[in-house]
Amino acid sequence: MVCQQCADAPCLEACPEEAISRDAETNAVVVDQDLCIQCGSCVSACVIGLDAVASEQKLAIRLDEDTQFPLKCDLCGGDPQCVKFCPTEALVYTDNLVEGEFGVGEMMEALEFFLQQKELPLDRQGGK
Ligand code: SF4
Ligand code: SF4
Ligand code: SF4
Repeated sequence: MVCQQCADAPCLEACPEEAISRDAETNAVVVDQDLCIQCGSCVSACVIGLDAVASEQKLAIRLDEDTQFPLKCDLCGGDPQCVKFCPTEALVYTDNLVEGEFGVGEMMEALEFFLQQKELPLDRQGGK
């Protein structure tokens, strides 16, 4: 579960320093470390679930343990390396999010589904 680049990004709204913005080219929600004061408000505001291992962190955004700067997907500047390297082509780079059709409600549904799947035995995941 990585950052969904929310259309109405709560992390962006929560930043007191305007250090988070939307990249005009890729539509990614990006962090400017020159403006960031490492306060963690963006992590608190993110709607994509708590990390079960580090409960103050989120699945989509976390503070780097060493630098305390937020780490999140930035779509690799429009050339997603995860898509490029996935051996089974399970990942696609789509412009659905750019069209703003995937809001917080849809994300919460996706997250709920994700967490339900995690609780199922592996041989029952996938709905069969
Ligand atoms: S950690 Fe940085 S980017 Fe996040 S809300 Fe604070 S100042 Fe903004
Ligand atoms: S998923 Fe979290 S980190 Fe990504 S844009 Fe939405 S609120 Fe921000
Ligand atoms: S490889 Fe790039 S596009 Fe893929 S999840 Fe990581 S930062 Fe995002």
